[in-house]
Amino acid sequence: MAHKVTLIPGDGIGPEVARAARRCIDATGVKITWDVVAAGQDALEDFGELLPKSTLESIKNNKVALKGPIITPIGVGFRSVNVAIRHALDLYACVRPAKTYLGVKSPYKDIDLIIVRENSEDLYAGIEFEEGKPETKELIANIEKYTQKKIRQDSGISIKPISKYASERIVRFAFEYAIKNKRRKVTVVHKANIMKFTDGLFLRAAREVAADYTDNIIFEEAIVDNMSMQLVQRPKDYDVLVLPNLYGDILSDLCAGLVGGLGVAPGANFGDDMAVFEAVHGSAPKYKGMNKVNPTAMILSGMLMLRYLKEDDAANRLESAVKKVLTEGKSVTYDLKPHRDDPTSVGTQEMADAIIANLR
Ligand code: NAD
Repeated sequence: MAHKVTLIPGDGIGPEVARAARRCIDATGVKITWDVVAAGQDALEDFGELLPKSTLESIKNNKVALKGPIITPIGVGFRSVNVAIRHALDLYACVRPAKTYLGVKSPYKDIDLIIVRENSEDLYAGIEFEEGKPETKELIANIEKYTQKKIRQDSGISIKPISKYASERIVRFAFEYAIKNKRRKVTVVHKANIMKFTDGLFLRAAREVAADYTDNIIFEEAIVDNMSMQLVQRPKDYDVLVLPNLYGDILSDLCAGLVGGLGVAPGANFGDDMAVFEAVHGSAPKYKGMNKVNPTAMILSGMLMLRYLKEDDAANRLESAVKKVLTEGKSVTYDLKPHRDDPTSVGTQEMADAIIANLR
């Protein structure tokens, strides 16, 4: 029977990389009925809504989605549709593997890291108070009353909630993932020395959960600033990292950088019975419609989706085909060539063609 999967092409380069990924997934022979729905700027233009209810309903019904990147304006304007999807469907665990592939330029070899990022809380909760608003002034007055600390009247405020429930849930997810995927170590990353009631709580929850697993998996703790340096100097010392939302977002880009950049970094968001697969990269609007960007991250997100659908054989074949094309270095996009202006670089769809040609 065919799997039903929601496909959200997204904004900017989204439709191009989503098309490339869909073609590669279909070429594995796995039968998928794609339900193509909109979210982001296109949805706003067509339906007057950034995240139409029908899009969320489609994911709820199908339980699996492949999603292209969606634009979020910086500093002003609407809130992130990506974050809204994760919140609305309680996709609390973001998993971002960072793996070196032969043929992809990187100062490192043999890196195989997994970032497990908490997706529902922290500074991404979207609880913000704008500078100068009456409610912001009231909040400042209350904070000053309860803490005896001064906050400048012209401040904006973002709230960082971290709960015991969500912290335990994400750390347990990380350990279960480590066991299922035969990993050796889980490192919890925090800034509990400064934020004792939020990161401190996350760390204490991690220690408690880890106690159930330490017979099988090594547990370590690291402060986020030190972790950033360690990852650059000794990435091979690490295996699975579990982090609150903001540090997870930042360090997953850092890890993408370790293995050759955003063009090759896939990702997935998991809830208890649902998953949305998407590349780590954004909508790179300056490349929109140019058939130029690297489809690998989105294709590897599709590979992760095939594993979730228990289509392991197809997932293995797809990953092998991607590896062959990357190793050969011929039919690859500009970012994977020794020089970015290399005239032999191919377009997004042509790289997908080469991957399809190498599927066994
Ligand atoms: P971005 O990832 O879109 O682009 C940063 C740079 O990375 C690009 O200029 C490009 O040089 C490179 N890059 C990205 N994807 C690539 C690919 N597939 N192949 C080759 N090079 C690639 O990040 P940004 O510029 O910070 O964000 C642009 C928009 O995307 C913003 O609106 C942002 O909010 C959004 N965004 C969305 C998601 C998501 O949908 N999950 C994630 C991150 C950013």
